[in-house]
Amino acid sequence: MPEEKVRKRKGIVHVNHEFCKRCGICVNFCPVKNLEIRHQTLMELERCIACKMCQRYCPDFAIEIEEIDAKAVTTG
Ligand code: SF4
Ligand code: SF4
Repeated sequence: MPEEKVRKRKGIVHVNHEFCKRCGICVNFCPVKNLEIRHQTLMELERCIACKMCQRYCPDFAIEIEEIDAKAVTTG
């Protein structure tokens, strides 16, 4: 796995595939295009910035973000 990708990643996307109806709402809301529907399955591309827009707008509570960069809040 390329190192750069890992470094930038701030969240891990957990999808409940039983709840997800692949409506694409989260795909459209994601500002970094981390989400894609491929072969009828919601996939992530490992560049999540943990903004949680997808989690907030999923009508089926099918997506949850796990934050993996605890030291991210150091700017400003
Ligand atoms: S918004 Fe929810 S139900 Fe729709 S594709 Fe995303 S995770 Fe699945
Ligand atoms: S938390 Fe934000 S960046 Fe990560 S998948 Fe959801 S919308 Fe995209």
